[in-house]
Amino acid sequence: MTTGLVFDDRYLQHNSNPMRLPVTRQPLPFVESVDHPSNPRLVERTMKLMGLTGLLEHLVRIPGQRATDEDLLVYHTEWYLEHVRQLCAGGGGDAGAGAPMGADSAEVAMYAAGGVKAAVDAVLSGDVRSCYSLVRPPGHHAMAEKGMGFCIFSNVVVAAHYARRANGLERVLILDWDVHHGNGTQDAFYGDPNVLFISVHQDRWFPPEFGAVEQTGTGDGTGFTVNVPLPAGSGDAAYAAVFDEIIPPVAEQFAPELIIISAGQDASAQDPLARMAVTPDGFRRMTRTMKDLASSVCEGRLVLAQEGGYAEVLAPYCTMAIFEELLDRRTGIEEPLDPARVAIWPPANEVSGDQRVAIDAVRAHNSRYWTFG
Ligand SMILES: [Zn+2]
Repeated sequence: MTTGLVFDDRYLQHNSNPMRLPVTRQPLPFVESVDHPSNPRLVERTMKLMGLTGLLEHLVRIPGQRATDEDLLVYHTEWYLEHVRQLCAGGGGDAGAGAPMGADSAEVAMYAAGGVKAAVDAVLSGDVRSCYSLVRPPGHHAMAEKGMGFCIFSNVVVAAHYARRANGLERVLILDWDVHHGNGTQDAFYGDPNVLFISVHQDRWFPPEFGAVEQTGTGDGTGFTVNVPLPAGSGDAAYAAVFDEIIPPVAEQFAPELIIISAGQDASAQDPLARMAVTPDGFRRMTRTMKDLASSVCEGRLVLAQEGGYAEVLAPYCTMAIFEELLDRRTGIEEPLDPARVAIWPPANEVSGDQRVAIDAVRAHNSRYWTFG
């Protein structure tokens, strides 16, 4: 029942601040520059919390890897790799649409993709049963020829292809619970019946043109993309309903040989870049469902890859809750929920009418491909 952790100090070296954001305030001229939301503190704080709580000593440390060009070219193009490298050689820049890079970012992004590969190796070799890659930059928005939404290379796409190419797997399930839609992952496997992509995200948030319930795949891949857009304000109860009613039946029918989770903890109740209300307990429960599913369908083989999560205080506690569940161990440490912020949300412990309508629409729309209980 061992759990691995991939973390490499290089991940902290990806500098998103060359594009420090100028913010204009009244009265003019009052302009200040603020840190980019996807800054190194996010994973740094998580590592520190893991150390302080003692969880770190129960994890098997898995060395990172550097992805090869061949790994990246399963989805990205030669042109894009060269483009990213040239930008970094010049000191940095935007890899596309909102994916800022410093001089080292091209190299660090190779290590981020390789970090998820390393987790796949560790799990498939049996060294550990599950493995979390605490990587940055994240990957799920990156498209074949365009960085996007803080993402440079599509880490999870690279890892899923690698699992199939190098390890001979046929079917991989990718579950993306980041509050934003995993548009790059969806695009990469939209016509592929061997990779089932399920995304649970805030409805019409980012990117707004992706993630509608009607987007279910194309050609041979039709039915193998399942989008679960939830209304803003959804909390633990709505997520629990999705993780009870939607994900297990589809996953069991697909019968994957490996489950990869795009784990962005930005559906948390205090995230500045979204409007959901999930607590650390909610993430614990989501993890339990996926862990149980992995046990029943693929010998427990579960890889998690860090995506977003921008609540500086709460997000590390959400990630800690995931590790507690993976390790079957409780720290007993309470998360610092901000009562003022939580009080303005609809109760997270019940499924509201609009959330029920959204979940039922997912069942109805996908029932032509999958049987729900
Ligand atoms: Zn996100």
